[in-house]
Amino acid sequence: MKILVIGSGGREHALVWKLAQSPHAEQIWCAPGNAGIAQERTAKSGQLVECVPIAADDLAKLLAFAQEKKIDLTVVGPDNPLALGIVDLFQQHGLRIWGPNQKAAQFEASKVFSQGFMEQYGIPTARAGTFTDAVSAKKFAESLGGKCAVKADGLALGKGVLVCANMVEAAKAIDEILVTKAFGAAGAQIVIQEYLEGVEISLHALCDGKTAKLFPTSQDHKRALDGDRGLNTGGMGTYSPTPFVTQTQLNEMGRLILGPWLKGCVAEGIDFRGILYPGLILTQHGPRVIEFNARFGDPETQVYLPRLENDLVELLDASASGTLGRVELKWSLLASVCVVMASGGYPGSYAKGKVISGLEEAAKLPNTKVFHAGTAMAGNDIVTNGGRVLGVTAWAADLKSAQTAAYAAVDKIQFEGAQVRRDIAAKAL
Ligand code: AMP
Repeated sequence: MKILVIGSGGREHALVWKLAQSPHAEQIWCAPGNAGIAQERTAKSGQLVECVPIAADDLAKLLAFAQEKKIDLTVVGPDNPLALGIVDLFQQHGLRIWGPNQKAAQFEASKVFSQGFMEQYGIPTARAGTFTDAVSAKKFAESLGGKCAVKADGLALGKGVLVCANMVEAAKAIDEILVTKAFGAAGAQIVIQEYLEGVEISLHALCDGKTAKLFPTSQDHKRALDGDRGLNTGGMGTYSPTPFVTQTQLNEMGRLILGPWLKGCVAEGIDFRGILYPGLILTQHGPRVIEFNARFGDPETQVYLPRLENDLVELLDASASGTLGRVELKWSLLASVCVVMASGGYPGSYAKGKVISGLEEAAKLPNTKVFHAGTAMAGNDIVTNGGRVLGVTAWAADLKSAQTAAYAAVDKIQFEGAQVRRDIAAKAL
């Protein structure tokens, strides 16, 4: 099978790495990919994965490329091409592609849509309101005592959520999005949710339009600094499974969230084939969904895929074909930990082009994989090329050993200004 993966982050490296292990994968391309992805080989033919310089949101060029290479399966990593309708476009041209279509991708692309859907179909969520004008938005925020999350409706590079502790912050956030238009058209509408206290976890479910199969638990570390301090980031590390949720509780969340979600999808004519990734907060009163994503998490994928025992090509094919009901997801009992190495300054501004050393030594460690995110080649060097640079991942029989192994690999790798949290998975130990 000829496979095209779209995207360039750690998530896409993990996807390519796992797809390349499948006996179905003969040749893999990645658009645009990164320096680590370009080092992967398919197990079947030993061919190197080829990175092609096409941006993940350049739908016309991606379509032309897939047609030219006669790609059998395209796998979409990031949210943006999904929101732009890449799945619909490829299907109109008779190409097989995995991911939700544009209507289904609304769960991530529109927070207003998601909030309305959750309320209509009885999915447990935060008390919330949807607004287009600042005056009524502020009135609602006041009714919550100013403690709230103000969210731009559309995609805003993960920056469209402003968590506020009081009315001064809430008013500023509302003005920033609705009046100053900090997020442009993505902020034409906002959702304001009550602030929820509790442990935050993410769920993943692979869906085929009729069935949703839950993954094990994982936990992300969103803040830049140890002890969950500092600014919100795309994610500084993950581990799986998390002890904060038992299997019984996970099954109960599946019943509470995925049950009504699937019913709602049928009622609305939404054919969701892809990953549904709800973010939730475990409150005193039970789990509450704060958002839906419509793709694999990053860096959650980096800890899930080393634990997945199924052939990923077969799984994604079943998801796209509507035959997931016949498949059982199999997970190893191992624990896995991913520690992100980021550029100094991230999530603010940062320099690029710093030479990365020690990757070869880290690659020699057993049960360890260094997934690349923001990396590129410069001559013979691998250099930094983004905020999150590497996702250093290890797996072992227990979480403590996986954590030790991940940090042992981190300590082999250097680049100027590298920023690493030293407490990934510490909460769970
Ligand atoms: P989102 O992109 O909607 O998940 O929001 C980004 C981050 O803001 C989440 O990971 C939470 O840490 C925080 N957040 C969002 N909504 C809420 C809420 N209703 N209560 C508390 N924290 C929230």
